[in-house]
Amino acid sequence: MSSEHTVIIGAGLAGLLAAAVIGATGRRVTVLEQDRSDGSPVPRGGVPQGRQPHVLLYRGLCAIEELLPGLRAQLIAAGGVPLDTGDLAWLGERGWAPFGIPAFELVSATRPLVEHLVRRRVAAQAGVELRSGARVSGLHRPTTATGGGWLIESANTPPISADLVVDASGRSSRLPHWLARCGTGEPPTTTVDAGFGYAGRVYAAPPDHLGRVAGIVMLPTQSAPAGGVALPVEDGRWLVAAVGAGDHRPPRDPEGFDAFLARLRDPALSEFTRSARPLGDITVHRRTNNVRRRYDRLTPWPDGLLVIGDALCAFNPVYGQGITVAATQALLLRQALASAARPGWQRRLMRLFHKATDLPWAIATGEDLRHIGAQRQRPGADTLFARWSGEVDRLAAHGDLRAQRTLDRVYHLVGSPIELFNPALLTTALRGRLRGLPAPTPRPPFATGTGTS
Ligand SMILES: Cc1cc2nc3c(=O)[nH]c(=O)nc-3n(C[C@H](O)[C@H](O)[C@H](O)COP(=O)(O)OP(=O)(O)OC[C@H]3O[C@@H](n4cnc5c(N)ncnc54)[C@H](O)[C@@H]3O)c2cc1C
Repeated sequence: MSSEHTVIIGAGLAGLLAAAVIGATGRRVTVLEQDRSDGSPVPRGGVPQGRQPHVLLYRGLCAIEELLPGLRAQLIAAGGVPLDTGDLAWLGERGWAPFGIPAFELVSATRPLVEHLVRRRVAAQAGVELRSGARVSGLHRPTTATGGGWLIESANTPPISADLVVDASGRSSRLPHWLARCGTGEPPTTTVDAGFGYAGRVYAAPPDHLGRVAGIVMLPTQSAPAGGVALPVEDGRWLVAAVGAGDHRPPRDPEGFDAFLARLRDPALSEFTRSARPLGDITVHRRTNNVRRRYDRLTPWPDGLLVIGDALCAFNPVYGQGITVAATQALLLRQALASAARPGWQRRLMRLFHKATDLPWAIATGEDLRHIGAQRQRPGADTLFARWSGEVDRLAAHGDLRAQRTLDRVYHLVGSPIELFNPALLTTALRGRLRGLPAPTPRPPFATGTGTS
């Protein structure tokens, strides 16, 4: 067995980015993917969420660009729509965010296009093999007498041996089960499910369909757990998703979908869909729970095994964090491989992977616990933090740019939540309580249907 062979389970974004990093070190990498694909940028069965809008947060876009330089330009060349988050019409819990002030430059594209471009780059790397139609069904540890490492069982091929296995098989990962069979035990798992559902539809409209407004984001709130997004993507299309929790989950039928959008706090999304031409059916997605598998608590952690992306920690996608976390973990992997000769590096790296999920997990589950009315069960510091970030949100909804920028930085995972405790924000909030806040931020200047096509 080669001591330099890595097998990656799953060719989603986490698996592909891990392959890019490991392949760049000169090791041989085989990526086993259950789906058969001709490589074109279309939704596929193993990634059902690929039909819904995917926002690449600023931190994620920067991380992917660092891993695969030039990818941002390739996304734009392939039709991805560059937009500034300051030009999004953003309706938060307490009102509209300030509009038209430059913030973060993103590229809006479908999830299949992002994956397609990343896959193309990875496939071109020497030493990396992408095998499709190869569903992994088990993982074993041969005895050290036969060379150690791992044996990976997969459909249609004899078992493959590897000294490093990376599980990147997403939320449905079977690794806990396989590890239990190996005697390592299953990781303690935490699940927080606010019961969100998505219903998405594609529309034909040019990127400037809304005039200066680059896209719409309407967050679900505690009192009205329903919202949605509309974002321009490649090929003169927009992706519109309706999102709601529990009894507020959006339906699949077109009349129900339109009625759902019409009932939202603001008519912007409903006006959008009435002014654009639908392309195809509505697709629904309801697997949105937060799931965190605490592999860092499994001791001893077996050598030669890593878990990355949704397989390690999956988030309620409403907060748009999954790809960013996977890309951040790939950067950590790159750093770790530089000193991988030191024994126990995989165990240490797994701790760092977990640490990278701490903030996004706190953001997603903090909000979701509020939605399911479980805040009383949360520890005091968390409750205090949630109240204070609500206060900062209120300042932003009344036009305070410092408050908005700070929230943006935390949301896009480029800043620490500690920044929310900036003394200037504390002073502004206190002044607001004493003298009242300025007028609420006005509704953004929508110009539905005025774009050039
Ligand atoms: C509705 C929805 C909307 C989302 N929106 C966003 C968003 O706006 N922004 C964002 O950053 N993230 C979003 N996400 C999350 C995002 O899709 C993932 O976090 C991200 O793609 C990283 O996923 P992954 O590569 O770990 O797993 P996946 O993308 O799920 O990929 C796993 C891969 O493993 C393969 N596989 C599974 N089992 C096996 C096996 N046994 N053998 C071989 N192959 C296997 C699958 O076919 C698949 O290709 C959203 C998720 C959902 C559900």
